[in-house]
Amino acid sequence: MKVVLASRNRGKLRELQALLAGSGLELSPLSDWPQVGELEEDGRTFLDNARSKARTTARLTGQSALADDSGLAVEALDGRPGVHSARYAGPGANDRDNWLKLLEEMKDVAPEARRAAFVCVLVLACPDGRELVAEGRLEGFIAREPAGEGGFGYDPVFYLPELKATVAQIGAETKNRLSHRARAAGRLRELLAAGGPTD
Ligand code: IMP
Repeated sequence: MKVVLASRNRGKLRELQALLAGSGLELSPLSDWPQVGELEEDGRTFLDNARSKARTTARLTGQSALADDSGLAVEALDGRPGVHSARYAGPGANDRDNWLKLLEEMKDVAPEARRAAFVCVLVLACPDGRELVAEGRLEGFIAREPAGEGGFGYDPVFYLPELKATVAQIGAETKNRLSHRARAAGRLRELLAAGGPTD
C-alpha cells in the first residue's frame, strides 16, 4: 500500500522506512505533495496531533497517510512536557535548554518518583476514514544530571536502570531496538498483519 508520510523531516522518513521495511507500506515523502501546507500540532495529546496530521494529509492527497507524534511524559509533572517536548523551554529552545529546564523542575523530586516514558503514537489514516493507531513506550527515569553524547532531545537525562545508562550512552543500534518509535512501528506491523487496511 502506498502511503504518504505526514512529515517534512527527511530523517524521520528514513527511520520509519527502515522500521517498517517489509510491512507492506511503501512510504513516500510529503514533498511530493505541494498542496499540503503546514501541518498543525496544537492538540492536547500525542494521539490528537498524529491523528490530525494523518487525516489532513489523507484528505488533501487522496492517499493513505502515516503520521507520528512523540515526546517525553514525566510522572511527577503530570505527563509534562508531553506534546510540548520540542519547545519546552520556549519558542527558540534547543535540546539542552529543554532538559536543563526539566532538571531544574525535578531538582527536589526523590529518585523513586522520577519515573518517565518516551511515547510515540503512529496513526495510519486512509482516505475512506479507516484508521490504525499504534503506540510505543520506553520506560525509564529522569537522571539527576546529563550523561552521554549520543541521540538527541532528552536522551542525556533519560536513564534506563536495566542498562545502567542514559539513552545518550547506549548507542544508536541499541536505541533503535528499544525506542518508543521502534515499538510503535512493531505494533503497527502487528495490526497490519492482523488485517488492517491493506489496499
Ligand atoms: P517529534 O514531534 O516526534 O519530532 O518530537 C518531539 C520532541 O520530543 C523532540 O523534539 C524531543 O524533544 C522529544 N523526543 C522525541 N523522541 C525522542 C527521543 O528518542 N529522544 C529524546 N527526545 C525525544
